[in-house]
Amino acid sequence: MSSQINEAVIRDVITEVLGRLGSNGSAVNPAPAPAPSAPASTSSSYAPPSCGCKSGRSGGKHGVFATANEACDAAQQGFLQLQKKGIEARRKVEEIIKTMCAERAQEWGCIELEESKIGRLDHKIEKLQIIGLVPGVDWIRPDARSGDHGITLEEYTPFGVIGAITPSTHSIPTLAGNIVNIVAAGNSVVFNAHPSAARCAAMAVREFNKAIERETGIQNLVCIIEEPTLDSFKELCAHEAVRLLCVTGGPGVVKAAMQTGKRAICAGPGNPPVLVDDTACMKRAAESIIQGASYDNNLLCIGEKEVFALEHIADDLMQAMQTAGAVRLNASQLDQLTQAAFTFKEGQGAGCPHPVVNRDLIGKDVSVLAQAAGIQVPDGTDLLFAETDENHPFVDEEQMMPFIPIVRVGSVDEGIRAALKAEHNYRHTSIIHSHNVNHMTAMARALDTTLFIKNGPCGAGLGLGGEGYLSFSIATPTGEGVTNPRTFTRVRRCVMVDNLRIY
Ligand code: NAD
Repeated sequence: MSSQINEAVIRDVITEVLGRLGSNGSAVNPAPAPAPSAPASTSSSYAPPSCGCKSGRSGGKHGVFATANEACDAAQQGFLQLQKKGIEARRKVEEIIKTMCAERAQEWGCIELEESKIGRLDHKIEKLQIIGLVPGVDWIRPDARSGDHGITLEEYTPFGVIGAITPSTHSIPTLAGNIVNIVAAGNSVVFNAHPSAARCAAMAVREFNKAIERETGIQNLVCIIEEPTLDSFKELCAHEAVRLLCVTGGPGVVKAAMQTGKRAICAGPGNPPVLVDDTACMKRAAESIIQGASYDNNLLCIGEKEVFALEHIADDLMQAMQTAGAVRLNASQLDQLTQAAFTFKEGQGAGCPHPVVNRDLIGKDVSVLAQAAGIQVPDGTDLLFAETDENHPFVDEEQMMPFIPIVRVGSVDEGIRAALKAEHNYRHTSIIHSHNVNHMTAMARALDTTLFIKNGPCGAGLGLGGEGYLSFSIATPTGEGVTNPRTFTRVRRCVMVDNLRIY
């Protein structure tokens, strides 16, 4: 996943969008900064609804609703309208979502960063530009059997209304990708977004619905709760029209979804380990690790989070990472960063089994982390790294910061054991840099992850530089894998007995 958007373009976008937001330059700087003088809701995209509602809420306009019950009722009507309009309407919706994401990527990327304050603008933009790679209507093809007793068709049919939960890490991209999959399969959807990225999600839903209504006549195919809460999550899950949940987030929401009694497709947390052995190309390994671990300041669930390197090539790898532009922290700088990045219980220091990640540093720029570590780094530095032991909190926790720990291991077996421990049985993503097929096989079997990438950055696992297709929801604990339109279907069989076989 390359970030080829040059800085001049980014600067232009910031200037243009901030100009429209009426905000000052500090608003898009992901470094800790005072709150912007003008809230994002003053943007033209956040214009108060014309319903006259005093609260500024949309009152159910264009898919944005005050309560989960209203949203689910409307989405049920949206589903029935889509059913009537057929496959052509599904195709139109897919085209609308993909085209709007591409055309408005710069504006929406800026708005999402402005609200969530985590990640990098160039990658926020890129994540919207690539929605075109999400599979759509063409993936819904029936399976057929033909034999002496006639023909049988297995059709991939919709559920109806899907309840979807989106993360703070990529709010609009997850929402857009989910819509493409879910509507391609013939369903409608109601979103409960993460509260820290809910306004941008509601804005996108409003804009999508306006276009969908204009082009197809269907209203409220995509709905959202304007101010999401844990209560609205419960109300959404309990609504009788909601027959399937699609949850993208950390351990808390996965657990909550599984307790609802509804079937849930859960795209859960990860802590992807990387193993580098002595057959790997160090340059390629270093560049891949930097590319993956720095992407959107390491917010990706698939992003490289810790590296285990064979003892005798660890120095070569770290040298290659420095040559490729990453900055190495020494022991005392690492210690300073660790103290800033985690909260330790009273009386306990680094090595405490359950330190809590400091949310203030999640998804922040390298310059912010460097400041916390007590150093300055050259402009354009994408990633910090340091040597740690395998019990370090940066290894154990899903830290989502542009910093990666490098751990020396004595053998491939030891590296696999350490990687397995760091992955916490999430069975999400693991990566190896090696040309030894035995090592690859051993790690693949031991880690048992949904994505296993060899000799590339994490994005290769989602079709970005590797073969495959894109989704921002990778269903890990529940086993559906990289979600696609078929994930959101019921398989129904239609049987013609002793007839219609044509040869
Ligand atoms: P989060 O778990 O804090 O929030 C995710 C969503 O769940 C939000 O909408 C939030 O409001 C909701 N939520 C959280 N706890 C809840 C609860 N107890 N009951 C009901 N709703 C609840 O996650 P985040 O910080 O926004 O995103 C990062 C996490 O998501 C990481 O763990 C990352 O690995 C994971 N993630 C996974 C995938 C995947 O495809 N597997 C994709 C993106 C993010």
